[in-house]
Amino acid sequence: MNTVSLRDKNLFYIGGVVRDKLLGKDSFDIDLTYSGNAVEFVKNLPDAQILQINEPFGTVKIKFEGEEIDIASTRSETYPQKGHLPVVQNIGCSLKEDILRRDFTINAMAMSTLDGEIIDYVNGLEDIKNKKLRILHSDSFIDDPTRILRGLKFAVRFDFELEEETKKLQEDYLNNINYDMSYKRLKKELAETFNLNSWRAFEIFTNEKMYTLLAPQEFELPKINLEPIISKYNPENIWLIYVGLLEDISSLPLTKQEKNIVESYNYLKNKHFEDDFSIFSELNNAPLEAVIMLATKDYDTVKKYLTKLKDIKISITGKDLITLGLTPSPKFQEIFDYVLKEKLKNPELTKAQELELVKNKIKVI
Ligand code: ATP
Repeated sequence: MNTVSLRDKNLFYIGGVVRDKLLGKDSFDIDLTYSGNAVEFVKNLPDAQILQINEPFGTVKIKFEGEEIDIASTRSETYPQKGHLPVVQNIGCSLKEDILRRDFTINAMAMSTLDGEIIDYVNGLEDIKNKKLRILHSDSFIDDPTRILRGLKFAVRFDFELEEETKKLQEDYLNNINYDMSYKRLKKELAETFNLNSWRAFEIFTNEKMYTLLAPQEFELPKINLEPIISKYNPENIWLIYVGLLEDISSLPLTKQEKNIVESYNYLKNKHFEDDFSIFSELNNAPLEAVIMLATKDYDTVKKYLTKLKDIKISITGKDLITLGLTPSPKFQEIFDYVLKEKLKNPELTKAQELELVKNKIKVI
């Protein structure tokens, strides 16, 4: 486990880093919380250089013995507007209160920086042992429905499952969704979950109808498993390949690039491809994500494109045409398309053979 050099009886590792240590896994980041006011604490530390203070949240970044360390103050939170960001209530509250604002018991344990003692008010150790995800109170999903996706993410990452009561509360919430929620937060959790490229996650998401979090809608699991195709071609926006298959994702705040992916897929899925040239021209112009999504509708076409057609390129250039005595004009595109059509039929064509084709073509146009 990554640790920090700073030690204090009121300073604790908290959340994911403790869970990961207990699971014997590496952590992405180290969360530390100070039981009390972290800002006051670091001001009194002789060897700490304060780099940044966020007073309203009681968080602070310091440099200590050459290390950059983020420390949060213990805080409690309330959800006056369900489904939106919580309001910070009480900075410097007890460690227990800080723990009780968290999502799952496995993410709600602390570990002393002094002696490594695990502080477990919520039976997280037991749940880790039994591979269970358990929320801390019955309003948890109502306060913050993004926790449903966080649960999915942890279930898939660690091969855990929802404990029975938690599963029931999740079902209850999904049957009675409050659509006044932060879709920005939902998008962040969708991205983290589906960037894992797990078909199992998509199966659970579909079977449990979690997609209704975005909008009331129906959706059926596609028959083609996209996980191996995504692994092989490694596109940038993996999460959107999954989520973009839904009928209605208009609630999500998408970037221009993300919108373009979804629009390209919606265009391609209604397209009829007459020949290899039309497959190549349409798919070569589309984002890779949209091409992979299309595999759920037209697997053979996508397979042919990705494995046979995608990397075919003609060798001749505009310069070659000028050398042959042609003047640049829209005819050039016509010639390139003609040569490409031939090359798609016969990818072994050499540049000399392409030039021969051009010469013959010039005679007729
Ligand atoms: P990861 O390994 O994915 O980073 P993590 O548990 O560290 O896992 P973060 O999203 O960084 O995940 O959150 C840090 C901690 O903050 C969590 O362990 C959990 O205790 C708490 N937390 C995060 N999001 C929520 C939430 N939506 N509701 C309640 N607690 C949360």
